[in-house]
Amino acid sequence: MTTTDTHGRPHPSAATQLHLSLAETAIAHNYEPLPVVLASGQGAWVTDVDGHRYLDCLAGYSALNFGHGHPRLTAAAQEQLARLTLTSRAFHNDRLGPFCRDLAELAGMDLVLPMNTGAEAVETALKVARKWGYERKGVAPDRATVIVADGNFHGRTTTIVSFSTDPVAREGFGPFTPGFRTVPYGDSAALEAAVDENTVAVLLEPIQGEAGVLLPPPGYLQAVRDVCTRENVLFIADEIQSGLGRTGTTFACEAEDVTPDIYVLGKALGGGIVPVSAVVSRHDVLDVIRPGSHGSTFGGNPLAAAVGHAVVELLRTGEYQARAAELGERLRGRLDELVGHGAVAVRSRGLWAGIDLDPALMTGRQACLRLLDRRILAKDTHGSTIRLAPPLVMEPTQLDWLCDQLTEALTRPTG
Ligand SMILES: *Cc1c(COP(=O)(O)O)cnc(C)c1O
Repeated sequence: MTTTDTHGRPHPSAATQLHLSLAETAIAHNYEPLPVVLASGQGAWVTDVDGHRYLDCLAGYSALNFGHGHPRLTAAAQEQLARLTLTSRAFHNDRLGPFCRDLAELAGMDLVLPMNTGAEAVETALKVARKWGYERKGVAPDRATVIVADGNFHGRTTTIVSFSTDPVAREGFGPFTPGFRTVPYGDSAALEAAVDENTVAVLLEPIQGEAGVLLPPPGYLQAVRDVCTRENVLFIADEIQSGLGRTGTTFACEAEDVTPDIYVLGKALGGGIVPVSAVVSRHDVLDVIRPGSHGSTFGGNPLAAAVGHAVVELLRTGEYQARAAELGERLRGRLDELVGHGAVAVRSRGLWAGIDLDPALMTGRQACLRLLDRRILAKDTHGSTIRLAPPLVMEPTQLDWLCDQLTEALTRPTG
């Protein structure tokens, strides 16, 4: 029997308490995790140190699109772990070529530049775009600018936070990298007006994830594509979170039949097992990178390439994209019912949703605590928004259960 506090919430067990106190004393406080300590996972489920099971509706911010412990992915990792894990790029390895060939083909591009984390891939794309601007477009030395959108999230490096519009992400981290121009997200006229002869690229998320799963107005991506083509500017699509099946298509840009000049990929590319990121583009763009001008000790390592290749093989079946689209329809129907019942607005594409709560009722954090009591893991963002990104392998019945719990968490006065 569990004892409960005055709110009916179970007291943390000794095992949970140990890890919560270690988090206080031994882990830098760069996150504020919900009070649950996870120990194992399978498919869409995770289990805490006390044996309680939760439906994982964050899925590692979409790094776990294929769920926990996907048999094809863990097999690829285990097999490679026993064979060869790291060579450095000073030598070839027998996993990288096939991975890059098939990823390029999946993206309809020519070349892949492998990195590790998302932020590194974004940095890589920015370096590529600047060099492309100087060598191919003829921009005057050190004058290149990149246009970005407000509300963006592209990672945490000093250059990337330089063009963040989130004060918390920037504060105390200057001096910042120059060369960025910010325009409102979703406004293609503002974007066009910001382009000048020094503009080398536009860097955008096709759907802004961290901002709360914000969808741009219909036609926006196409309009951005048109401006970039007309002005000889590279369109860099940061599909680190939106890509690889999440929205019901391989890439979120497909919703408007748009092909960017550069895809930036990460998160799910590593199958939730190892960090794998990539810049995927055409010869005429990526050829500006030559030996010595860019690299990474771990980028393109055989373990990462084996897992990434297995991810590409899953995506080539189209099965996961179709699943995200079908489950997404089902989710959408249920989310719409929440508007006026705890939620003021809902947005979704595929199996990815942002729910703006009525701030008078509760904060996003409070909603996530209520969901935690109901054995659902979800994450808040920007005060009163919660976002859902469950693994694409989840069953329709699990999705229904999630929606039931969500409805009750938002509409019941307590719990
Ligand atoms: C997560 C994310 C990143 C950064 O990826 P990291 O692996 O955390 O460095 C960049 N862009 C987008 C859109 C993301 O969601």
